Amino acid sequence: MRIDAISIFPEYFGVLDISLLGKAQTKKLIAFEAHDLRNYTHDKHRTVDDSPYGGGAGMLMKPEPWGEALDSVLSDAGEATVIFTSPAGEVFNQKMARELATEKHLIFACGRYEGIDQRVVDYAASKSNVRVISMGDYVLNGGEVAAIAMIEAIARLLPGVIGNAESLVEESHSDGLLEYPSFTKPPSWRGFDVPEVLLSGNHAAIAQWRKQQQIERTKRVRPDLLD
Ligand code: SAM
Repeated sequence: MRIDAISIFPEYFGVLDISLLGKAQTKKLIAFEAHDLRNYTHDKHRTVDDSPYGGGAGMLMKPEPWGEALDSVLSDAGEATVIFTSPAGEVFNQKMARELATEKHLIFACGRYEGIDQRVVDYAASKSNVRVISMGDYVLNGGEVAAIAMIEAIARLLPGVIGNAESLVEESHSDGLLEYPSFTKPPSWRGFDVPEVLLSGNHAAIAQWRKQQQIERTKRVRPDLLD
């Protein structure tokens, strides 16, 4: 999969060189590149923002640098999905991660200030698939952290990125439920014991206990998921 990110702080994306995603890049399972939006400006101050029409607090990202940046990233790539990170988008979840993991090329557009001129989204939609996606119901200073979280959630679903593919099957949200509580050695630690059933070797009983724990935990913590 090819992944591009456009941002005024491309250095944020350095974390993608670490750990499993770093290895995935080395193994060429992912081709990632971060692009500096300011490279597509033409004035001395490399301006990317301006005041919003109609008034209001703060500055907005201008369309011209975005247009040039998107043209350059889209042109040599063919079909792509452009993801605008925004608290005003549909909220990201595991189902979306699974959908996006089937794409060939993702472009993350990271806003700053009060966001991006709407015409940039409309222009991108005239050239490619577009999704406007939020990390959750809160406001970040910029889209970089949101993009990194999405990239990690998507990329770990690609074949070969996670060493043990089975770990993707039983984790939270894989079947609409949260994961069951997990324990490792020792069996007793500071007065807290591992549940007996997990030491029993009875695989059917363990599977039943885990499913029950998943349902109870989901009911308690995220009843909305059971709808
Ligand atoms: N004025 C915007 C609004 O009220 O919707 C918020 C702008 S925010 C300060 C600047 C940028 O951070 C946004 O353009 C977006 O790219 C990013 N951002 C902030 N919160 C986000 C979230 N929850 N999910 C994804 N991106 C977010």
